[in-house]
Amino acid sequence: MAQRYFMIFPMTPLPIVFADIEAAAARLDGVAHRTPVLRSRTADERCGADLFFKCENLQRGGAFKFRGAYNALAQFDAVQRQAGVIAYSSGNHAQAIALSARLLGMSAAIVMPLDAPPLKIEATRGYGAEVIRYDRYTQDREQIGRAIAAERGMTLIPPYDHADVMAGQGTAALELIAEVGPLDALVVCVGGGGLISGCAVAAKHLLPDCRVIGVEPEAGNDVQQSLRAGHIVHIDVPRTIADGAQTQHAGQLTFPVMRSLVDEVVTVSDAQLVSAMRFFAERMKLIVEPTGCLAAAAILEAGLPVAGKRIGVIVSGGNVDMTRFAQLLA
Ligand SMILES: *Cc1c(COP(=O)(O)O)cnc(C)c1O
Repeated sequence: MAQRYFMIFPMTPLPIVFADIEAAAARLDGVAHRTPVLRSRTADERCGADLFFKCENLQRGGAFKFRGAYNALAQFDAVQRQAGVIAYSSGNHAQAIALSARLLGMSAAIVMPLDAPPLKIEATRGYGAEVIRYDRYTQDREQIGRAIAAERGMTLIPPYDHADVMAGQGTAALELIAEVGPLDALVVCVGGGGLISGCAVAAKHLLPDCRVIGVEPEAGNDVQQSLRAGHIVHIDVPRTIADGAQTQHAGQLTFPVMRSLVDEVVTVSDAQLVSAMRFFAERMKLIVEPTGCLAAAAILEAGLPVAGKRIGVIVSGGNVDMTRFAQLLA
């Protein structure tokens, strides 16, 4: 068991290394978008720094999740491909798995709550996946997922706690650094920690002096608490508009990576997320979902000190219902 292994041998090698991210980049080449890195003079002037925004809101499926999902599915053997993939998610991971499965010609089943937004269900079905509904108040999605996986021989791919998923997410930082060169810090949102784990492995390998800073919603700072405590802390479902970061605990694989490679985790409020969302829309003409604003909000709204530095900022996703987008900005 990986969990026990890490507890007994805390100095054990991490679950992913830089070569895994390079291999993921080769698999994603020509499949994932090489998303643009955008600049904003207004943002730079506001904080006295050079900011480089890696725009994963413009990734296929609308979020960085496509990188990890495709990297995992592309490595299935013939038997796994035949049976297909199953995932449980109401958000961006569902769409990423559905899209990746379609591209690779395999079937996908996604376990989604009965009260998931109809738009998200339609998007997932639109990619050809079978949507399996469950009642989130009376049923356990992990149990349902595991039961269907066993019954149909499908492979379950979790949203963050999986080495191939983490390695795929790391290609976002790999591309950013290849494009802009040295950075003093890389600022990344944190849910379960898949994105920041992959990005930290890439950044610390290429730029050993680059600080890696995580950003969580104020109401859901379980990773900040976990890093302070030295073990994984579980919290109640946090109340925040950052729905992609409503995770209750870090992963068994992501936590050791964050513990050894993430320098600091800071938090931002929902009001600061909305201000950053407005900034992206007004100034940069970008639609960014609340969770996608975490890293930028830490710098532009929460006063993370960056003056005089070159800073990479991951903009993680752009999937937000337009009615909700308008309500949040109103
Ligand atoms: C999933 C997701 C996150 C959180 O990523 P983790 O790998 O779970 O830390 C952040 N932003 C968006 C848009 C997401 O979809």
